[in-house]
Amino acid sequence: MDILSEHTIDRLEFRKTVRRYPRPIGYNAQRGPHGQTQPVHTCRIFTNRGATGWGFCGANEEAPRRLIGRKVAELFNPASGTVFEAKCLDIALHDLAGNILGQPVWRMLGARGGRSIPIYSGAIYFDDLNPDGAAPGVQALLESCAQDAAAGYAHFKLKIGRGFKYMDRAAGDARDIEVTRLVRQHFPDAKILVDGNDGYDPAGICRYLSAVADCKLYWIEEPFLETEEGLRILREAIKEKSPGTLIADGESRNDRAQEPPGPLGKWQPGHVDELIALGAKGLLDVLLMDVGAMGFTAWRQVLPKVVAAGAQGSPHAWSEPFKTWYAAQLGCGLGAVPIVEGVPGHVDGVDDSGYVLKDGLLTLPDAPGFGLNLR
Ligand SMILES: [Mg+2]
Repeated sequence: MDILSEHTIDRLEFRKTVRRYPRPIGYNAQRGPHGQTQPVHTCRIFTNRGATGWGFCGANEEAPRRLIGRKVAELFNPASGTVFEAKCLDIALHDLAGNILGQPVWRMLGARGGRSIPIYSGAIYFDDLNPDGAAPGVQALLESCAQDAAAGYAHFKLKIGRGFKYMDRAAGDARDIEVTRLVRQHFPDAKILVDGNDGYDPAGICRYLSAVADCKLYWIEEPFLETEEGLRILREAIKEKSPGTLIADGESRNDRAQEPPGPLGKWQPGHVDELIALGAKGLLDVLLMDVGAMGFTAWRQVLPKVVAAGAQGSPHAWSEPFKTWYAAQLGCGLGAVPIVEGVPGHVDGVDDSGYVLKDGLLTLPDAPGFGLNLR
């Protein structure tokens, strides 16, 4: 602690860069296409003693600038994270403190998950569909899996819910089944996760589950807008048809975002409490709030409560590739994150070569902070 109080925020450097996916990303049940490049905002902190740390931040430079002149120790505690008023620099302060203390963030958090963590590709969208033109067909989806496998991924999350909006219901449901079976056939050892983006109803997802029962799905994410009744129906179907398949939810704020963002970012605390309560009832296995939009420090506070309820976490990491690294640092630091969402690609100017992805396992750098260099 003491050493942090010797550092004062001297200046900030804002930089707009670009994230790039390895291919254009298409549609999910709700929206698309997700494009191939997007601007990304970063902020680097410099202290009066020459230390630096940087991270993903919002486009608003006003809030961070108000923190110039403040002691790092007033804004950040290694044991609990960033104070609320400095939330806009949450990631950068973790990096800075790690750099000052000579500690990787995952060690600062307790190293309860070790240094490696399973990872899946979160970039397998409706690559067989193009609602605006000629449909590429299911082969395109296999090619996306192969591209990510060549980059070190071994597990895949498939978007399902084609029948919600972009296809006729029956044909879309049938395509979801076809695609799931096809990926299982080509990648027999992969963990297959599926994400409905709330594009099914309980009866529909149970029909889907029956049709892919032999595919041994790893998890079902956001099949429908979560209700206790719906989740009970799904849980029963899982017990019967697909024992071991996890239920993951909490990514969507369900049209009840916290505005302005509070201690749990864009999540209403009451919503997170409801999700944890569903975990305690045995109806949710993995909670998915976003690592950026809920917050890194918020996850440090929430995950122990999730674990106490008997569930686990996996911070949503789409859409910037370095959000995967942040989520993985949380997972390795706190444990109780069974797998992290991989966002294939890179952010221009970011050297993330310390993160090693091989055979579906991500190994984190042992370097201080997040171990990411901004060139
Ligand atoms: Mg999702």
